[in-house]
Amino acid sequence: MPDCVFCKIVAGAIPSQRVYEDDQVLAIRDINPQAPVHVLLLPKRHIASVLEITERHDVLLRRIVLAAGAIAQQEGIAERGFRLLTNTGPDGGQAVAHLHFHLLGGRKMEWPPG
Ligand code: AMP
Ligand code: ZN
Repeated sequence: MPDCVFCKIVAGAIPSQRVYEDDQVLAIRDINPQAPVHVLLLPKRHIASVLEITERHDVLLRRIVLAAGAIAQQEGIAERGFRLLTNTGPDGGQAVAHLHFHLLGGRKMEWPPG
């Protein structure tokens, strides 16, 4: 297993609160939530960042976006709105080098981000 916290979560070696999963995608609650709802959506297979996405990943990306919408509905944040984002690289603030999308909601988000 790669020395990657999210690969370990996928494998069950590190515990997490799973909110959605299918054969390609896992969604978990962020351990350090930045909003009342803070869910991370990630591919089960290791991909370092959005820079590694190719056309072969079209099903994966569609699943992530559809799951994000469904989770937003489940969590009751769809009507008022939410933010779905992926940080990339040092300037983007990416701490974990395994692609993940943050789903944040339940409070008013600010713009521009910090
Ligand atoms: P990023 O800074 O975009 O790479 O986001 C990494 C996110 O992963 C942060 O919001 C962390 O709080 C979250 N995180 C790190 N370790 C864990 C973990 N074991 N379980 C759940 N979320 C985690
Ligand atoms: Zn990984």
